[in-house]
Amino acid sequence: MTEPTSPPTERSNPDARDGTGCEVAGCDVAVVGAGPAGALAARELARSGLSVMLFDAARFPRDKVCGCCLHPDALSRLNHVGLGELPDRLGGRRVAQVEVRTPGARRTFALPSLVTVSRSALDAALTEEAVAAGARFLDGTRVRAAAVHPGGRRLQLERDGMCWSQHARVVLVGDGLAGGLLADEIPVRTVRHSRLGAGTLIDASRLAGAGLGEAQLVMACGAGGYVGIARLEDGRASVAAALARPEPHPAGWVGVRAASILVAAGLDLPELAGARWTGTPALTRRPTRLAAPWAFLIGDRSGYVEPFTGEGMGWALASALEVLPAVQEALLLARCGAAWNPRLGRNYVRGLRRRVGARRFACGLMGAVLRRPRWTAALLGLAARPRVARALVRHGYGRRVTP
Ligand SMILES: Cc1cc2nc3c(=O)[nH]c(=O)nc-3n(C[C@H](O)[C@H](O)[C@H](O)COP(=O)(O)OP(=O)(O)OC[C@H]3O[C@@H](n4cnc5c(N)ncnc54)[C@H](O)[C@@H]3O)c2cc1C
Repeated sequence: MTEPTSPPTERSNPDARDGTGCEVAGCDVAVVGAGPAGALAARELARSGLSVMLFDAARFPRDKVCGCCLHPDALSRLNHVGLGELPDRLGGRRVAQVEVRTPGARRTFALPSLVTVSRSALDAALTEEAVAAGARFLDGTRVRAAAVHPGGRRLQLERDGMCWSQHARVVLVGDGLAGGLLADEIPVRTVRHSRLGAGTLIDASRLAGAGLGEAQLVMACGAGGYVGIARLEDGRASVAAALARPEPHPAGWVGVRAASILVAAGLDLPELAGARWTGTPALTRRPTRLAAPWAFLIGDRSGYVEPFTGEGMGWALASALEVLPAVQEALLLARCGAAWNPRLGRNYVRGLRRRVGARRFACGLMGAVLRRPRWTAALLGLAARPRVARALVRHGYGRRVTP
């Protein structure tokens, strides 16, 4: 990817696959990042009649580090916006049970409703929904900056070495854990000793010899972190991990640590040590605020905690829905030339906290228990009692949300 060597011009073509240039008109809302948060926000805003541009640096369809489990909360949020049939349409697999393993114990929990679907399929389908609603989607396009500009922000974009700029009245930043847009305006606090995320995709047929049932999700917990394995609709299996980084950390430590956690938990997948892993930055993080003039953070950029119960996509969808009224109000201000009102950001924070605050707190607690193998083993011991097991499942997977 080339750095712009001169100030970006106003020229380019949003449908620039053919490389021809033309003037870019501004838009009401620019959405940066086409993960679940960005794609759903773009869809909902386009449905309300706004001009919406959705940008993603990656070419779609793309995979990403994820356990690929749609938590019941995520499913009910999709349902709420009329996309409840999407996981089935994509061939998503119902997961009837999760098996939690530690080196000394193993327990299987029946699950109420959990579906796995690959991120390449899910995120592509959500962006198609956004486009069908009227949003314009440009993949392979990196947003390099989004500086405050009269009546909104001016984005600097880059695609295949071509640079241009475009005005947007409001910018939604949904560029994920590794995203850095507006990092200079909104610093992020990372929780000390936060684990790192890592993931790889393997051929699911390799799981046969490792003792993994057809509809099963397995979570293996050990001293150095935990690893989840889930079968996907396309014959692959996602292997996603939250790992403590050893010091020193030699090259290839991720695969070695993940494989050793699995082996200690009785799952022998030695090829994972040599698989191609993709890592993420520290998982548990919180930005100092969720809005800056004419911009809001959504999805993982609005805060994240370790993902044992696989709720990140549900939270991302929640943030996309919660930010909508704030965007509409900001547009009213921008259209009549009024100044940015910080109250919009505060209202968004309060609303998002109401939707996901309790779940994030509960996941944080769960992460704290899982850091201590003895506590995890004790919890699994207690879960031999059906009442305790049911309470744990309700705590982790069973709660119904107000979308
Ligand atoms: C190990 C692990 C396991 C997980 N397992 C689960 C699970 O089982 N279930 C679950 O619900 N969640 C899970 N999650 C969390 C989930 O993956 C995230 O919460 C979710 O993807 C967040 O969506 P998002 O829309 O915020 O961003 P993302 O899905 O991360 O998308 C961000 C997008 O922004 C794009 N981008 C970045 N920078 C730019 C830029 N400058 N310009 C343009 N585009 C840009 C990227 O290319 C990317 O496509 C897991 C996470 C990890 C790390």
